[in-house]
Amino acid sequence: MSKEENINCSFCGRSKNDAGILIAGLTGHICSSCIEQAHSIVDEQKKHDSGSDVSHDFKLMTPQQIKDDLDEYVIGQDDAKRVLSVAVYNHYKRLTYAEGNEDLEIDKSNLILVGRTGTGKTLLARTIAKSLNVPFCIADATVLTEAGYVGEDVESILSRLLQAADYNVEAAEKGIVFIDEIDKIARKSDNPSITRDVSGEGVQQAMLKLLEGTEVNVPPQGGRKHPEQKMIKVNTKNILFVAGGAFDGIEQIIGRRINTNMIGFSSKDEKLDTDHLLQYVTPTDIKDFGLIPELIGRMPVLTYLNPLDEKALRRILTEPKNSLIKQYVHLFSLDDVELKLDADTLDFIVEKALEYKLGARGLRSICEAILNDAMFELPSQKDTTELRITLEYARSKFAGSKLAKLKIA
Ligand code: ADP
Repeated sequence: MSKEENINCSFCGRSKNDAGILIAGLTGHICSSCIEQAHSIVDEQKKHDSGSDVSHDFKLMTPQQIKDDLDEYVIGQDDAKRVLSVAVYNHYKRLTYAEGNEDLEIDKSNLILVGRTGTGKTLLARTIAKSLNVPFCIADATVLTEAGYVGEDVESILSRLLQAADYNVEAAEKGIVFIDEIDKIARKSDNPSITRDVSGEGVQQAMLKLLEGTEVNVPPQGGRKHPEQKMIKVNTKNILFVAGGAFDGIEQIIGRRINTNMIGFSSKDEKLDTDHLLQYVTPTDIKDFGLIPELIGRMPVLTYLNPLDEKALRRILTEPKNSLIKQYVHLFSLDDVELKLDADTLDFIVEKALEYKLGARGLRSICEAILNDAMFELPSQKDTTELRITLEYARSKFAGSKLAKLKIA
């Protein structure tokens, strides 16, 4: 046996043959797996040591300050912003206040946001979490199932939040969870006894516990694939849940309700805006849509988002602090190219987003289609310092893109 093969890891004792890489120190050796293990122990300890700072680091802001922050990133949606700012302010005030006063418990102000897809529901929740410096995660209600069925348990939502909080439980317990597509777990039928409704009412029932505030055992990695993993206890009492959904067809429910109560509504001062019925949404409509009253009761604040029209899309392109166009200009500037887009090019992008019914999300795909060739070519053309995107250029690039070949439904 050669001298090399006689060397062992001084930590686990494995030989060079078994361990692969051994790194020599002054008096001993360490193998790669012991290095990895040691590294994770150090990481864990660091997180633990820094944990208490992070959790108290959130900023309590006034509703006006919260709304001002939202205005920098989210275009329009004034009603939703005002309702959300107050709900969030009250939530965190309640949290601060509760620390000194046990007698008077203020209820949670979990929210439901109703509005078409791509109108800014997630963006609102994410922006608030960023302003307040609290952990944030997005959970998709459609993948959740009642415990024991194929799919994810509702507890998996909290695994994400824990991950977002870097496993700092105290910070996670003050975080914000955005539950997307809450409307998709609506009861499918008015008759609750018809069949077992695993992905509808069952999930709603399972969610109740989470929303009202209890201690939940959370698998750190999510899912049920690792039965041996240690559970982490998370108290949901101070977690703010914001649920969003398109609630397709709710306008008809609202319309029907208003029509039957028309006599009650016919105030002379206010005219009913029948084109935008969503603004009149009430918890009753959400219940008629198929969410159970107990769940609605635990998300008492309800607001709506407007569909984005041409004007809003145009503003979204350039106005938010991190608007798409600002991002592209920055990307090009890193290659020392000054990117300029003509005003009618911007109008064209909006026009196409509307034409292809892509909403705000589509703005990006259209910009990519127009700018992709330039982004491919310019980094290797060192002499170009300016790129102007005229309407003609945009039209021709868009016409040649895959996107333009899509049939409009
Ligand atoms: P949803 O309502 O489906 O949750 P999102 O908030 O995820 O929609 O919006 C998708 C993307 O569209 C956002 O990341 C953002 O870039 C853009 N967007 C949508 N609505 C707005 C808005 N009101 N203001 C600014 N950007 C928006």
